[in-house]
Amino acid sequence: MAFETLHSPMAFLKQMLGSVPFEKEFQAYVDWWEREGKLISAATDRSGTPWLRMFDRFGGRVDEVIFPPDYWRMLRKGYEAGVLWRAFEGHSLKPHYYLGFLTSFFDPGIYCPYIVSLATAVSLQKYGDEEVKARFLPPLLRQDGTGWQGATWMTEAKGGSDLGATVETSARRVGQTSSSARHTADQKDSGGDQSKSSGDRWFLTGEKYFSSNVGAELAVVAARPEGAPEGVRGLALYLVPRIRQDGGLNYFVRRIKDKIATRSVPTGEVEFKDSEAFLLGKPEWGIYEILEVLNLSRVANSIGSVALTQRAMAEALGFSEQRIAFGKPIFQHPLLHKQFEDRFYELKKAFALAWEAVRLLDEVWQEPVPYSHRYHLFRLIAHLAKYWTAEQAAQTAKWAMEVHGGMGTLAEFPVERWLREAMILAIWEGTPQRQILDGLEVMERKGAHLGLFEHLAPHANPAKLVDMKRRVEDHLALPPDRREAGSEEILRDLAEFTAEALLRKLEKKDS
Ligand SMILES: Cc1cc2nc3c(=O)[nH]c(=O)nc-3n(C[C@H](O)[C@H](O)[C@H](O)COP(=O)(O)OP(=O)(O)OC[C@H]3O[C@@H](n4cnc5c(N)ncnc54)[C@H](O)[C@@H]3O)c2cc1C
Repeated sequence: MAFETLHSPMAFLKQMLGSVPFEKEFQAYVDWWEREGKLISAATDRSGTPWLRMFDRFGGRVDEVIFPPDYWRMLRKGYEAGVLWRAFEGHSLKPHYYLGFLTSFFDPGIYCPYIVSLATAVSLQKYGDEEVKARFLPPLLRQDGTGWQGATWMTEAKGGSDLGATVETSARRVGQTSSSARHTADQKDSGGDQSKSSGDRWFLTGEKYFSSNVGAELAVVAARPEGAPEGVRGLALYLVPRIRQDGGLNYFVRRIKDKIATRSVPTGEVEFKDSEAFLLGKPEWGIYEILEVLNLSRVANSIGSVALTQRAMAEALGFSEQRIAFGKPIFQHPLLHKQFEDRFYELKKAFALAWEAVRLLDEVWQEPVPYSHRYHLFRLIAHLAKYWTAEQAAQTAKWAMEVHGGMGTLAEFPVERWLREAMILAIWEGTPQRQILDGLEVMERKGAHLGLFEHLAPHANPAKLVDMKRRVEDHLALPPDRREAGSEEILRDLAEFTAEALLRKLEKKDS
C-alpha cells in the first residue's frame, strides 16, 4: 500500500475526492504554510498564552490581545484564501471546509477563528434583520484579509453541556435604535453601510467562561431575555459588536486562558455589562440558532480531526522510514507496517464520514425550522462524525508519539503537539458524551436512523446493514436508563459502520 499522500493534505484530498476546486489558489495557500506558516505556527504554540493588554498608557480600558505580527499574517492568510467570503460568493460551504482541512493539517487551533467567524456570518445572514445585516456582514466578508472576525460564545462557568441550566447572561430590550445615530466603530472602520444604526437593540449582562477568538469585532452570544422561560427553550441568540455606539468597549476581557493547546486562538473570559446587542431571529428560535452554530463547528471539528490524524500519521511515517532498529527502518518491520496499513484505512473512513457531514450540511444549511428529514439525517451524521473523528485523532496522535519512542514525548519535536491539540478537539464543540447522547436523541425523537440506513443501503455490506439495523432498533427499545447507559457502544459501532459504508461510496466516486 502506498502512503505517499500522507505527507500532503492536498494530495490526500485529491486521492479521496478525485479533484479539489480552486486547486491553484488552494495549492498556493498550502505552499505558504509549508514555506512560512509552519514555522510561525510552531512559534505561536511554543510561546504559549498570548498577552492581554487591558489598559492603554493613560488608564483607558482597551482589552487588546497581543500576538506577534507574524501571527496576524498567518491568521490573515486563511481569510484571504476564502474561509469566509467564498461561502457567500458561491453559496456553498464546501470551499470553507476544504480550506479548513488544509489549515488543520498545519494548525488545528487556527481553524477555530475561521469556523467561528463563518458561524457568526451565517447566523447574521440567516437571522439578522436587513439593516443589521447591511451594517455588519460586509466587513466580515472582505476578501483582502482585513475583514472583521466573529466568535460564538455560549458556555459559562457552571458548564457547557447543559446550557439551559447554566446560562445566566440576561438580555434586556431597549427597543429600536435611532436610524440617524452613527456608530462610532463605523467611523473608525470603513466596512459595511456606515450611516445606519438600527435593529432590535438589547443590553446583555453576564459572563462567558470559554470565549474563543476573543477580541473579535462581532460575537454571537446565548443569553436569556428577561421574562423568558427557564431551560434551553428560553435562550435567544444575539449579535454583540466589540465596540459600542459611543466608541467605548462593549465587552470586557477578564483574562486569557492558559491552555494545553490551540494556542493559535486566544480563548478568554468575557464580561458583558449592559453590552449593546442585536437579537437574531425571534427569541423562541434561539435554541435552534444556537444548535445551528454548533453544527457548523462540529463539522469543522470533524474535518480538523481528520486533518490532524493525517498529520500525526505523516510525522510517524517520516520518522519510521529513517529510524533504524534491528538492522532496518522500523517502518519495514511487519508489526509497524501493518499498523500503518490499518490506520491509513481508518483515516480514510474517518474522512469519508466527516466529508458526508460536509456534503449534507451544504444541502441543509439554509433550512429554517421545522427541519426536513434530510436535516435530521445530517444531524445524526454530524454527531457520529464529531465523536468518532475526534476519538481517532486522539488515538492516532498517541500512537504517533509511541512510534517516535521517547523522542515523541519531547517538547522540542513536533509530535507531542498533535496529542495536545487532539485532546481539545475531543472536548470543545461538545464532549464525546454530548455527541453520543445527542445522536441517540435524534434517533429516538426524529427517527434519523431510518434515514441513515436508507442512505447507506446502496453502499453498505448487506449482512452488516441488517445486523446494525436490528441492534439499533433493539437498543432504542430499551428502558431509558439502560438505553443511555449502553449508548457509547452502539453509537461507536454505528459510527464505524457508517464510515465504512461511506468510504465505499467515496471509492466508487459517486458522491
Ligand atoms: C479551548 C476551549 C475553547 C472553548 N471555546 C469556547 C467558545 O468559544 N465558546 C463556547 O461557547 N464554548 C467554548 N468552549 C467550551 C466547550 O464547548 C465546553 O468545554 C464543552 O461544551 C463542555 O462543557 P464544560 O467544559 O462546561 O463541561 P461540563 O458540561 O461541565 O461537563 C463535564 C463532564 O460531564 C459530562 N456530562 C455532562 N452531561 C452529561 C450527561 N448527561 N451524561 C454523561 N456525561 C455528561 C461531559 O461530557 C463532561 O465529560 C471551549 C472549550 C475549550 C476547552
